[in-house]
Amino acid sequence: MPSKTFRGGVDTPHFKEMSASSPISELPAPEKVTIPLTQHIGAPCEVKVEKGDQVDLGQIIADTDAFVSAPIHASVSGTVEAVTTTRLADGRIVPAVVIASDGEDRWHESVAPKGELRNLDADAIRSIMREAGLVGMGGAAFPTHVKYTPPPGVDLHTIIINGCECEPFLTCDHRVMLEFADEIVFGLEAMMKVAGAKRGLIGIEENKPDAIEALRQAVGDRPYDVIPLKVKYPEGAEKQLISALTGQEVPSGGLPLDLGIVVNNVATAVALANAIKTGQPLIDRVVTVSGDRVGRPGNLRVRIGTSMEDVFDACGGLTEAPERIVIGGPMMGQAVFDISIPITKGCSGVLALSAEIAPVVEEKPCIRCGRCVEVCPSFLMPLYIADYPHEASLEYYPLDCIECGSCSYICPADQRLLERIRLAKVEAEARQRSDDA
Ligand code: SF4
Ligand code: SF4
Repeated sequence: MPSKTFRGGVDTPHFKEMSASSPISELPAPEKVTIPLTQHIGAPCEVKVEKGDQVDLGQIIADTDAFVSAPIHASVSGTVEAVTTTRLADGRIVPAVVIASDGEDRWHESVAPKGELRNLDADAIRSIMREAGLVGMGGAAFPTHVKYTPPPGVDLHTIIINGCECEPFLTCDHRVMLEFADEIVFGLEAMMKVAGAKRGLIGIEENKPDAIEALRQAVGDRPYDVIPLKVKYPEGAEKQLISALTGQEVPSGGLPLDLGIVVNNVATAVALANAIKTGQPLIDRVVTVSGDRVGRPGNLRVRIGTSMEDVFDACGGLTEAPERIVIGGPMMGQAVFDISIPITKGCSGVLALSAEIAPVVEEKPCIRCGRCVEVCPSFLMPLYIADYPHEASLEYYPLDCIECGSCSYICPADQRLLERIRLAKVEAEARQRSDDA
């Protein structure tokens, strides 16, 4: 039987061998963390501490009453050095709290186990998701409790755990699956309970047979299916994963919720398990540090707010000046010029790449070959959307673009399609907001 997959997509080089066999190691608390107060989709948090305050590990330092948001916690114990601003990977400048670590890692009194899963009802689990500041850790950073609060009449029947990790270089999810398979299954059980779902699926690309085996062992005789998927980019994108696993397509402008499905990354499932078992909020995450300009590529557990520079230093530093530094994967991530940028909840990788791997190429005129249309997993016409700022480009559904970069990757004319499509999306979103107002 052919492997399950979705329509479109591209075969990319993988480069995963650089870090795939490196077990997760712990980066101790850095001397200083800079924690952005906007790390998720939704309302930014308001700061709850002042310069000079003593804070404990896991203490809430920023929060909001807005529903679509997630609180932010101190990732070290120590002294608030400044309430300031910082730059994010996408170039935005946002409020941030700088904490100087006292090296004690003293937990806040609020961090305590939440009790046995069997004694927690759906509302209690949803509250734990929010209190722990859980967001999608595959990159989207959508607040988890919001995904589990469907509008009236929506029946959440299926929970999908995403173990695809289809981006080149990234191996943090692979290591999480090998080292925390039991926690992933525990997290899935909690998600099934809060949703009242009947079906639990775990999708993993076929190039990770050890992770497929580890999850099958952890699942045991529970009624969840671990399903191998074809190795193809972007197999792990939410809508494409749903298509591959269930054969259903999320409608244009819609959400997985419209089909009664919720998708969560493997790391989010582990974070939920930790939040229930130990009470630990989302203060750290596993990050892949890789690329041919990194001394010792690997997978590190890193406190939120640690600078990229500290992360590279912990992996042997940069061996030569890289051509490109990327936060996230090379396809969907962001190229950055400033390595003081902090690690956030949605950051799965930091990469330093040479010109051989990430060459800077000149755009040539479009030859109308249609290859970008063939590979687009969202059934779009990328060449026409990328015609932005021409008005007509906005008529080609830019908001359905998942920013996978497959069109740019395949284009023989090296057109910077995704860059221009992102601009078209900003304009389309602005018009949608003004239409709704
Ligand atoms: S792949 Fe590139 S050259 Fe071909 S139609 Fe699309 S934009 Fe034009
Ligand atoms: S238009 Fe968007 S969804 Fe389609 S291939 Fe390009 S980046 Fe991916």
